[in-house]
Amino acid sequence: MRGPRDDCLFCTLVRDADHVHTADGFVAIADINPQAPVHLLVLPERHVDTFRDVGEFPPDEAKRMLEFVAATAAHAGLTDYRVVVNVGPGGGQTVFHLHWHILGGRPMGETL
Ligand code: 5GP
Ligand code: ZN
Repeated sequence: MRGPRDDCLFCTLVRDADHVHTADGFVAIADINPQAPVHLLVLPERHVDTFRDVGEFPPDEAKRMLEFVAATAAHAGLTDYRVVVNVGPGGGQTVFHLHWHILGGRPMGETL
């Protein structure tokens, strides 16, 4: 359950993709279909299907994941940005390995 899954795209990208930022247990990559000038994805190495199951992270790892999201945005030069997690198909989730979108580089305020 905790190890990488061979059939999971993001488990593969955690190992193989070009990482724009890394920390112990986490990587950030550029989204292949960017919705903003800066569109990064934060991927935990731990495979958790969805944010619904965020309780599967040990508390320290969950805290470090949030800190890594903030650190990745700062690393990309962003001070103002949007963080999005799509949860389930009805929430727009298409890859079932928990991930955080960081969107910025343009005014993000017009739409939710
Ligand atoms: P979701 O819709 O699950 O919240 O987000 C999945 C995201 O993964 C989408 O924004 C999509 O563009 C991105 N994505 C899908 N396949 C790939 C890929 O092979 N490489 C990268 N870098 N991003 C991907
Ligand atoms: Zn996975």
